[in-house]
Amino acid sequence: MAAALRPLLSDPSGEMVVAPPGWEAVGQSGRRWVDVERWIPMPRGTTLMHLPRRLGLARRPGGEVAAVAGSHPLPVAAVLPVGYLRLLLPPHRPEPMAPTLPLYGYTAVADRDGEVVVAAARTDDYPPWTGRRPGRSQLAAAVAALQRELPRSAVVAQLSVCALEHNCLTAQNTFLGHHEGALPSSAACNADCLGCISLQTDSGAPAPQPRMRRAPTAQELIEVGHSHLSRCEAAGEAGMVSFGQGCEGEPLLRERVLVPVTAELRRHHPGATIHVNTNASRPGALRRLVEAGVNSCRISVFSFRQDLFAAYYRPRGYGIDQVIQSARLAASLGAQVTVNLLTFPGVTDTPSEVALTMDVLRELSVDQLQLRTLNGDPSWILDRLPQLEPAVGMGELVTQLTRGLPGLAVGNFTRPVGGVAPALC
Ligand code: SF4
Repeated sequence: MAAALRPLLSDPSGEMVVAPPGWEAVGQSGRRWVDVERWIPMPRGTTLMHLPRRLGLARRPGGEVAAVAGSHPLPVAAVLPVGYLRLLLPPHRPEPMAPTLPLYGYTAVADRDGEVVVAAARTDDYPPWTGRRPGRSQLAAAVAALQRELPRSAVVAQLSVCALEHNCLTAQNTFLGHHEGALPSSAACNADCLGCISLQTDSGAPAPQPRMRRAPTAQELIEVGHSHLSRCEAAGEAGMVSFGQGCEGEPLLRERVLVPVTAELRRHHPGATIHVNTNASRPGALRRLVEAGVNSCRISVFSFRQDLFAAYYRPRGYGIDQVIQSARLAASLGAQVTVNLLTFPGVTDTPSEVALTMDVLRELSVDQLQLRTLNGDPSWILDRLPQLEPAVGMGELVTQLTRGLPGLAVGNFTRPVGGVAPALC
């Protein structure tokens, strides 16, 4: 007989305990409680945290789902390392006036016979992101070296904070001269995403990577991009730089600067991957960037359904049709196109969403689908979305995607153009 799954709970000080015998762990999908079918041992690098001013829920002896009363009433959630996908939310109920939770990917967690397990699946393993990283002193020395080389650069100043204080791996790469290097370019955006990590306008949650205040000049971007790609080439890599980082707004809004920056970088680095992470709101701007030398783009999508898309992005002046048109255009011009699907259990995995996502991906024939856990307070996000039908489960979504679109690479991380993007691991 399979070992029982028992909830983990916490007191306000963070002391965690396993719920009393008889209580059985469940997961949360949208606003529904569901039995948990897929668990894995908690991966190394997972963080456990309690959810303040919330009640932890579980299935009590007798069958119904209820708050687990006692000295440790708070729910515990797992925050997964990169390369893992959340399958279920931690079952919980906010108290009235509970503060909005910070932007993390809260995942269901439980105890199985003394072992901590999480409702998750591994979705990628790519050494530049999941392997060992250089130590702190090596990173600090690399930051200091580029600061000496470009002492007045706004890009270097921004990336120094990102690399050292926010542990942004792409920013760190720019200093280390390896793999995908960040080139943050935009201080503005034409959306107001519920889960934006650089600017939270109304949730009350802190933005984990506060948005850059001053947009850099073309010269500043060229200097840093050229420096990164030259060091990559000296190390035997083709090199990769990307616009559109966690600390900025939307790079397509800086088309007038990024077109000449791209053309200049492409002139000196013909083999490089010049990539843009984008909301794909402006098909014409993306086309001109690709024509200038951008050869890879990652388009973030919450849903291909206009009302869900609009509820999440709160876009100004564009809709999902422009996003789809951008993907089509970039692919037709020969760029690598990846879709970054921001997943949320109970939304992304409803039958209608699964069918629509598969239809659109099939029509666009994108190179890779990235399955990302959407960070944010689950209840705060759900309060802003329409009611949806019961989901089939995130595991079933992954199964249907891989079976129904056999040529599609599924993972988490963007590869350089020409790099092998494996199917789901
Ligand atoms: S499109 Fe990007 S930068 Fe703009 S609000 Fe959304 S997450 Fe933030």
